[in-house]
Amino acid sequence: GGEDEQSEDYLFKIVLIGDSAVGKSNLLARFARNEFYPNSKSTIGVEFQTQTIDIEGKEIKAQIWDTAGQERFRAVTSAYYRGHSDMNVVTILVGNKCDLKDAREVSIEEGRVLAEAQGLFFMETSALDSSNVSAAFLTVVKEIYNILS
Ligand code: GDP
Ligand code: MG
Repeated sequence: GGEDEQSEDYLFKIVLIGDSAVGKSNLLARFARNEFYPNSKSTIGVEFQTQTIDIEGKEIKAQIWDTAGQERFRAVTSAYYRGHSDMNVVTILVGNKCDLKDAREVSIEEGRVLAEAQGLFFMETSALDSSNVSAAFLTVVKEIYNILS
C-alpha cells in the first residue's frame, strides 16, 4: 500500500514455462512491447518485465518472468515457482503459434480436454499476429484478482 489507506497496490508474479522455442519470449514481447522477433535467440536464465494493468480501478503490477525451458535452467527457474502459495496459483495452458494453421499437430479440442482434466484455463494464441495474447495474460491477472478480492 502507499500513503493513502484507501489505495491498494497489487504485485502479481507470472511465470512463463514451456519447452524451448514454443514462443514464451515472443508472447511477453508482444504483450509488454507489442513487438515480435522472427529470429529470437534463446533466453538465458530468467528475465522479467513489469506491466501495469487496471482492473476495476485497481492498479495491478504484473511481473512477468520469462524463463528458458531447457533442462539445465530448471534449477534456476524452479526458484521462481516457489513462494507462490497453492491458493493463489492460477495456471493457463497456452497453445501458441495458432497462426501456423497448416502445421497444426494438436487440435483445439485436444488442448481443451487436457486443460480441463488438469483444471487449467486454456487459450490458443499467436505472438505473430497478436491473437489472444493480451487475453491470455489478462485471464490470469483477473483470476488472481478474483481470488484475492
Ligand atoms: P521461447 O524459446 O519459448 O522463448 O520461444 P521464442 O519466443 O524465442 O520463439 C521461438 C521461435 O518461434 C522464434 O523464431 C519466434 O519468432 C517464433 N514464434 C514465436 N511465437 C510465434 C507465433 O505465435 N507464431 C509463429 N509463427 N512463430 C512464433
Ligand atoms: Mg525465450
